[in-house]
Amino acid sequence: MPGKECVNLLVTTSQGLLPFIESLPDAVVIANADHKIVLVNSRAGEMFGYPVDALEGADLKMLIPVHLQDGHKRNVKGYFRGPHARPMGAGGRFSGLRADGTEVPVDIMINSIMLDGVRVAMALVRDVTYQRELEDRLTLESLTDEMTGFYNRKHFKAQLRAQFSAYTRSGLPASVVMYDFDRFKVINDQYGHAAGDRVLVDAAKLIHEELRPMDVACRVGGEEFAIILPNTNLQDAVTFAERIRKRIEQVEFRLDGITFHSTITVGVASFTPADTSYDSLMRRADNALYAGKAAGRNCVISQDSLT
Ligand code: GH3
Ligand code: MG
Ligand code: MG
Repeated sequence: MPGKECVNLLVTTSQGLLPFIESLPDAVVIANADHKIVLVNSRAGEMFGYPVDALEGADLKMLIPVHLQDGHKRNVKGYFRGPHARPMGAGGRFSGLRADGTEVPVDIMINSIMLDGVRVAMALVRDVTYQRELEDRLTLESLTDEMTGFYNRKHFKAQLRAQFSAYTRSGLPASVVMYDFDRFKVINDQYGHAAGDRVLVDAAKLIHEELRPMDVACRVGGEEFAIILPNTNLQDAVTFAERIRKRIEQVEFRLDGITFHSTITVGVASFTPADTSYDSLMRRADNALYAGKAAGRNCVISQDSLT
């Protein structure tokens, strides 16, 4: 209405509000400016694994994972300085703490109301376990090569950039081992494309067995791969490269009763003080790999041997 302010602050009593919040499909947790829970619905009790009586009057922190408690308390204080309807956590991921110590991923919307004469914050808490799992799966899929299970080029670049930052910040070494299958066209031509695929998949499995949890193995091209070895100097990276080269050389690949062999050529590079971005390391790994091809293949060449 022109000239008249729209009043949207609900003024009610606990008794009046309870039937309404009980009818909602989400959990409702109402807290005051002192971080105390004043009212919840039974869905909140179910979600967090407490009887409703145990929640009402308790400190709100009993529903918050320990690592988020301090920030949350500050946020609640801040909220009461300018209370309005908004999502909590500014789009970040938030979790609640259940009575059994497990966390439940939640999305929270908050608004302010007057309840029994006191301004309180009313939170609508939605369990988003399913959505978070879906999100995580989609993110992983978008970064993974379906055929080998290795990460893709996009993830490789992001991880190498992060390693370069760590190197420039704290001098933490990192190396890249880049390999390409030798005369792969011959395998495809001689035994068929499916045989080539079998080599890529089985070789990825073998190499995966050689990795530490922190290593990041990626398929950066058709039959070209790169492994980031964090906290690893050039010498140790060369040792690792030699180990995987030998493993591939020794394995007998098999498809439909036919067996065949394959080899890889490997280029190895590490960050150096002269590097201004991760690109220069990539160039050195690439150059080393192609020096290995020129030298006859099935070998490991490190950046040290480049002139
Ligand atoms: P080089 O020793 O010089 O690397 O010889 P190469 O034959 O491996 O040469 P190149 O790297 O140029 O060729 C790679 C071949 O790998 C060409 C391409 O058809 C094949 N290839 C790429 N991706 C795949 C794949 O996913 N499956 C199969 N079966 N073949 C692939
Ligand atoms: Mg090749
Ligand atoms: Mg190639």
